Amino acid sequence: MKAHDDSVHHQVAQRLHESGLKYTAGRRQLVDLLLQHGRPASVPELLKKRPRLTQSSMYRNLADLEQMEIIHKVSGNDDHARYELTEEFIGHHHHLICVRCGDIDDFVVTASTERALDGALVQAARAAKFTVSGHRLDALGLCARCKR
Ligand SMILES: [Zn+2]
Ligand SMILES: [Zn+2]
Repeated sequence: MKAHDDSVHHQVAQRLHESGLKYTAGRRQLVDLLLQHGRPASVPELLKKRPRLTQSSMYRNLADLEQMEIIHKVSGNDDHARYELTEEFIGHHHHLICVRCGDIDDFVVTASTERALDGALVQAARAAKFTVSGHRLDALGLCARCKR
């Protein structure tokens, strides 16, 4: 998802600060990489972009940011963990998951489709006396590369 980088950094710094944590260079670099990637990224993908980062510090920073709910793991179709900034920072969106190569891309639907989805879910959950507070929606299929 495209997000305004400066405001994301500002929000993240504020969130960390509130918890008495520092927005270290390593954490900032990781948030930058995720913003640049623009869709869920695996550790190998992140390391490929910054070969000089050590794997251990990347894992540590990922764990810290995940614990702070600044980033989260995206479940895909394979065992590769992929990370993205949470919707609080990059906005509500959905995922296109390729069932062949495991690639995940982001997509958004129109506001009226979002409303229709929410309406349908509220209806469907009513019988279970379940209060809907949000939704996730993944589309499964083949990415453009795999379809060729
Ligand atoms: Zn694919
Ligand atoms: Zn939605």
